[in-house]
Amino acid sequence: MTEDRATSLFFEIFDGLPRQGPGDEASTLKALALVPALGPHGRALDLGCGTGSQTRVLARNSPGRIVAIDNHPPFVEEANRHARALNIADRAEARVGDMRQLDFAPHSFDLIWCEGAIYVVGFEAGLRAWRPLLAPGGHLAVTEVCWSTPDPPSECATFWTREYPAISDPATLLTIVTQCGYDIVGHFALPTAAWWDDYYAPLARHITDFRARHRDEADAQELADQIQREIDIWHAYSDFYHYRFFVMRAA
Ligand code: SAH
Repeated sequence: MTEDRATSLFFEIFDGLPRQGPGDEASTLKALALVPALGPHGRALDLGCGTGSQTRVLARNSPGRIVAIDNHPPFVEEANRHARALNIADRAEARVGDMRQLDFAPHSFDLIWCEGAIYVVGFEAGLRAWRPLLAPGGHLAVTEVCWSTPDPPSECATFWTREYPAISDPATLLTIVTQCGYDIVGHFALPTAAWWDDYYAPLARHITDFRARHRDEADAQELADQIQREIDIWHAYSDFYHYRFFVMRAA
């Protein structure tokens, strides 16, 4: 399969989902409540915003200005469409960009947000790279997948260490937070439903439709198998790993 075809099939499956990773509004608000209120002049950056599900929660619940970045232009367009429909486009602007190569001036933001996307750069690399962008005492809130137990069943451990070799546990991630020059403000596990309701459940329906559209295409069926496998692993082993919010302040 060429890279172009793989990318286009991949985005065909993910297009039109309510969100592109685990999360829910209540968890975004719980994390936001740990951060000092942004005033009308507060500046926030939402990295890997996808179609902006959390961007809109942030914009509706704080008066500051949010720049949201994603490298997939159709997601950015959709995020901006939603913002216009909600009349928040003057304060919440999505832009096409690469979170690995941000060119904002130092101290540009009071708050950096990253739900379900820091895995793109890695937890530690993201924390280090983004810290200079925070104003003194600024906050960073990210979600990351973590082990819930030290000894997950081998099928689950094999799957996740192959898909995401950097998968770690909360204690190790908290040590990294400190080593990267932050004080931890709070951290909590997202509820199990945050994987399912707005993410895996609609994704599973998309996979079914996608399979029907590409019935005789082995490469497309194989891609559907791979994505379905992540959902199957979650059904079997969700007790053994979770998504966790980490809210921290530049020390
Ligand atoms: N925060 C959203 C999306 C999470 S999925 C939500 O929780 O729903 C991860 C997102 O990161 C995707 O939208 C993907 O397009 C984006 N992404 C992947 N690599 C990126 C990069 N290098 N720079 C910016 N965004 C990237």
